Amino acid sequence: MVVVDLTKASAKNKSVIGDMQAKSGVNLADCYQCGKCSAGCPVALAMDLQPREVIRYMQLGMWDEVLKARTPWLCATCQTCVTRCPHQVDLPSLMEAVRQEAKKKGITPIKELNRFNDLFLNNIRYFGKSHEMVLMGLYNFTTGHLMQDVWSAPHLYFNRKIRIRPHMVKDKASVRKIMAKCLEGGNK
Ligand code: SF4
Ligand code: SF4
Repeated sequence: MVVVDLTKASAKNKSVIGDMQAKSGVNLADCYQCGKCSAGCPVALAMDLQPREVIRYMQLGMWDEVLKARTPWLCATCQTCVTRCPHQVDLPSLMEAVRQEAKKKGITPIKELNRFNDLFLNNIRYFGKSHEMVLMGLYNFTTGHLMQDVWSAPHLYFNRKIRIRPHMVKDKASVRKIMAKCLEGGNK
């Protein structure tokens, strides 16, 4: 059994946890651990910490456990938890703030997801919106999963879900500015 000195953990991690609250706009004290978020989360089955537990650990100052968890990387930002929460605690924003902090420290518990995130954001920076064909190709190539989902490409193409030629946004510079602002300011 792992014993954690909560007084020490709380003092040591006070500033980073405060920072996470500021970036996400979440007041951790708003959560009273009813568990409705975890009960409704469609990804909870695959998570190592339930959404409710992420908040509980942070309330207790147990930041290292949150930083290493797979949960923030698996959160699909579907907003189900926010709509179910009696206090509208914005868990997806909190997960995003944690993910960014983990990334800054080089902690990426699910490498493929980290790669996908990077490629997706670069795709948006370059085209102004996502170009699925390029995204899919680069993801498969750089992760070594060369044939992953390749067989669904013709179906998607003939149903006009993916295109060969990218549709670029005209004012890509503004899209890049918005992205940079989001990355700087979190939820503010
Ligand atoms: S639903 Fe809201 S109050 Fe309940 S545990 Fe989840 S975050 Fe906390
Ligand atoms: S936003 Fe994330 S944590 Fe909330 S229900 Fe969806 S997947 Fe789960």
